[in-house]
Amino acid sequence: MNFGKKIWLIGNTSEKSKKTMEKLSKILKAEHFLFDDINPDIVISVGGDGTLLRAMHMYEYQLNRVRFLGVHTGHLGFYTDFTDEDLFEVVDALYEENPAKAIHYPLIKVQVNFADGYQIVRHVLNESTIRRASKTMVGDVRISDYLFERFRGDGLSISTPTGSTAYNKSIGGAVVHPRVKAMQVAEIASLNNVVYRTLGSPMIVAEKDIITVCPAPEDDYSLTFDQLTFEYKNIKSIEYSLDGTTISFANCAHTSFWERVSKAFIGEVE
Ligand code: NAP
Ligand code: MN
Repeated sequence: MNFGKKIWLIGNTSEKSKKTMEKLSKILKAEHFLFDDINPDIVISVGGDGTLLRAMHMYEYQLNRVRFLGVHTGHLGFYTDFTDEDLFEVVDALYEENPAKAIHYPLIKVQVNFADGYQIVRHVLNESTIRRASKTMVGDVRISDYLFERFRGDGLSISTPTGSTAYNKSIGGAVVHPRVKAMQVAEIASLNNVVYRTLGSPMIVAEKDIITVCPAPEDDYSLTFDQLTFEYKNIKSIEYSLDGTTISFANCAHTSFWERVSKAFIGEVE
């Protein structure tokens, strides 16, 4: 019996992922798992971390009930636990899976406030960035009520702990364990000279703080929410906070964070 768990599969377009998807759906159908893309209990992503990010955004408004499980068809990722070679282990894991034992990682709520009062709210699993497309971006950065700095440069990245190993790391941010509920603000090519001053280093902000960026009233900002990019005009402010939203991973065979970091960036230690 599989206790009527409802499953959905999301894969990328690589040949290996397509084949793995076919194999896995065959096995799951033979085991009488139900397939449901509207209200799944477990979403299985087949591909890489990018695939899991895409799957997360497809179920962004159901994160309180959906659990995720990642199968990688390339290298071990940060959001993937199983390889395409252990598909029967995936099935065993699905049988054993217990929602009470799910692993939770924090997401950042991003609220974009426009000059006319319109608002957009999104949640990100890796990071959200703001940049100005043409010239130097100028923006005031507040930490809760305190006006911290006037940033000048290409832009800013605000990342989650699990996102700390992604874009954040490439721009010199620190790697943060996901049990540390914090947001990291990292600068993208800040301008620092006798006239302009920013902190110049990444900073890790506590769980209860809200980061607010008020960009100068220009018309060409580009905002990313993980892998998604949008161009916006008339932004008044952007608020970043940890509102308690998490992504849940099926607990089965979940690789520990530091093991992933070491395997992804260092490899075998002699
Ligand atoms: P992509 O351009 O294919 O991703 C870039 C790389 O980042 C891929 O190797 C991806 O792994 C890896 N990655 C994604 N999330 C990660 C995480 N939490 N920790 C460590 N590595 C991670 O784009 P994508 O696959 O759609 O992923 C979007 C993410 O890519 C963005 O959220 C951003 O963090 C990152 N990115 C990084 C840079 C950079 O470092 N310069 C530039 C653009 C985007 P997979 O191969 O397993 O997908
Ligand atoms: Mn990718």
